[in-house]
Amino acid sequence: MNLDALSAIVKRHWGYESLRPLQAKAMLRITGHGDSLVVLPTGGGKSLCYQVPAIAMEGMAVVVSPLISLMKDQVDGLRAVGVGAAFINSSLLPHERRETHEALQRGEVKLLYVAPERLVKPEFIAYLKKLNISFIAIDEAHCISQWGHDFRPEYRTLATLREAFPDTAFHGYTATATPQVREDICAALSLKEPEVLVASADRPNLVYAVERRSNELAQVLDVVERHAGESGVIYCITRKKVEELCEKLRAKGHPALPYHAGMDAGARERNQESFSKEGAEIIVATVAFGMGIDKPDVRYVVHTGMPKSIEHYQQESGRAGRDGLEAECRLLYSGSDFGLWKTILQDQDAATLKISLEKLNEMYNYCTDVTCRHQVLLDYFGEKLEKDNCGACDLCLGNAELVEDARVIAQKIASCVARLDEVAGPSYTTLILTGSREARVIDKGHDKLSTWGLLREHPAPVIRTWIEQLVSQGYLCKKGEYNILGVTARGRDMLRGDEMPRLLKPAETRKSARKQSVAASKSWEGVDKALFNKLRDLRREIAMERNVPAFTVFGDASLRDMAKQKPRDEVAFLQVHGVGEKKCADYASTFLPVILAHEGGGTDGQPNPAPRNKPDKARERAFELFELGWDVAEISEELGRSIKKVQEYLEAYIRTNKIEDPSPWVDEAICEQVQEALERFGNAPTDQVIAHLNGKIDPAPLKIVTACLMHTA
Ligand code: ADP
Ligand code: ZN
Repeated sequence: MNLDALSAIVKRHWGYESLRPLQAKAMLRITGHGDSLVVLPTGGGKSLCYQVPAIAMEGMAVVVSPLISLMKDQVDGLRAVGVGAAFINSSLLPHERRETHEALQRGEVKLLYVAPERLVKPEFIAYLKKLNISFIAIDEAHCISQWGHDFRPEYRTLATLREAFPDTAFHGYTATATPQVREDICAALSLKEPEVLVASADRPNLVYAVERRSNELAQVLDVVERHAGESGVIYCITRKKVEELCEKLRAKGHPALPYHAGMDAGARERNQESFSKEGAEIIVATVAFGMGIDKPDVRYVVHTGMPKSIEHYQQESGRAGRDGLEAECRLLYSGSDFGLWKTILQDQDAATLKISLEKLNEMYNYCTDVTCRHQVLLDYFGEKLEKDNCGACDLCLGNAELVEDARVIAQKIASCVARLDEVAGPSYTTLILTGSREARVIDKGHDKLSTWGLLREHPAPVIRTWIEQLVSQGYLCKKGEYNILGVTARGRDMLRGDEMPRLLKPAETRKSARKQSVAASKSWEGVDKALFNKLRDLRREIAMERNVPAFTVFGDASLRDMAKQKPRDEVAFLQVHGVGEKKCADYASTFLPVILAHEGGGTDGQPNPAPRNKPDKARERAFELFELGWDVAEISEELGRSIKKVQEYLEAYIRTNKIEDPSPWVDEAICEQVQEALERFGNAPTDQVIAHLNGKIDPAPLKIVTACLMHTA
């Protein structure tokens, strides 16, 4: 098996032009029958590493995967590109189990996904042994390690699998592997002389930025509005905050849903599902949200408060941009977050608390630091960034502007710390620098200090932030429980003028518009955004009609390439990134007319300006008319939008306003029928119910009733 054959498979099924370097190595290791461990960051393309060899080789590959929801998405994705795939787990209904069994017997399955708990059952292993297995892939392999962040005891049973298949090659895949976890995986899976392939953990498509929290809602809206129509996750520290912020966003017309551990499981699952399917654009959540989210097109992750460790931040922000396209990670913090976490963590035993507080400190330093964010994150995991300017963080992009006379200001601050004999904390030091005449200052005679009032032209909160920045750069240090400030050796060098500290301008006085990241400007180059938006609407319609996640139709990267290439026929359509033979056959006839119409109807060849920042006017008007009791057909006529589009608006309207009663839009008899069906299928996910009912009931009222029921249960 050579690389050309593998590349041809990638082109035929996935429509990608080339393999990434590490993917090629990983695939050749599989076809060469040796064991391997592959460490690729999220979005690095791990799945292709085993999916392509599975297609190329005789027999069938077994893929062990920890989450039922992810398994289903993977299998749907493979089928959508014309690859025979199936999964076996507890969610299968009896007839589905039988169908899978038959497909396996006929040899139609190239990849079989199984949950680890299946593998302890001797009868299941015996069943697998009768099949022709090419190799075994372990997805999320770090779940086997107790040192990992996501240990799953059932993964330990994989040792049994290895014993049962001594001559079959095993391959582990993970995004997070410290050397310790890496060794643990190799040992626990008894990998035989594994080839260990490790890529850089950097995610160059993620644009990191940190801001002090001043006006939270405005700061959140700044991100949300720039990404209108795109998916995002907003993390809050507390459940109460989740509820509050969610309400505020909805009041502004943004389709946001809450998610936290205090909600009942059913409601949580529905909101997660709705987010995955692109019905809801925004999830406002506590950290309880995340596992099981494989949505590739999350375009932003906002933290409204500081996470408790850099590991957590990396995990949570890393849920953005899995598809490799640019995505924004914005962190809002304030000194009070530190105190909040301290209180929350207080219950831990002394040893754990000590470690937790260290991690909390590191996280706080990240917030106040003025070094490239990618660099700091990589540093933390023991890696070095290979370039000086990452082109994808607030600091490197110059979106956070530096103070010109930083050295002078830093010297004033450091000498004030020294004059105070290193017995004061940041707040008191700030007080002196601003020239306060508070009683405690006068009483101590500190208004006589030469450094008193040295920075009186700057507001106190700004001086506070600068002090933190000097601490994180190692010019000042904090001592003891009361954070008494001291001047370090490096700080003394700086006072002598030997060092060049960096200080940030406060956010409000920054003048420049935000600069786009390198990744963003590259991936939008030549893309007709108006056409892109049309294609995205079309994708959403198709996805809703078929009740599949939108990304299984086409990923954002494909739509952008389509809006750039503007194919006019099937041959050209097949050249678009991410369009393989099956997708071409399935979708060319739907997408080409939209592209042709757009091209024909365009004005003087000027690309239309993107309506991304503008709210959807028709949608707003439709919401008003629903309020007035108009029905779908009337609104469709009034607005000149298709019935299907207006139905979409109606679903959004129901969700946004948490409407529970479908009777204004759906016939009572049909309501009853649907409700009965939903009860009959118990807690089955809505899409299964829809699948069962399709054909019997028109999908439109079905969707409306289901949307209403989402708020009751
Ligand atoms: P991971 O599992 O490592 O997070 P995925 O396997 O989900 O990553 O792949 C991330 C994205 O990159 C997917 O959208 C995938 O289709 C795309 N991708 C993978 N390999 C390639 C390639 N060789 N060329 C272009 N896109 C690719
Ligand atoms: Zn940077």
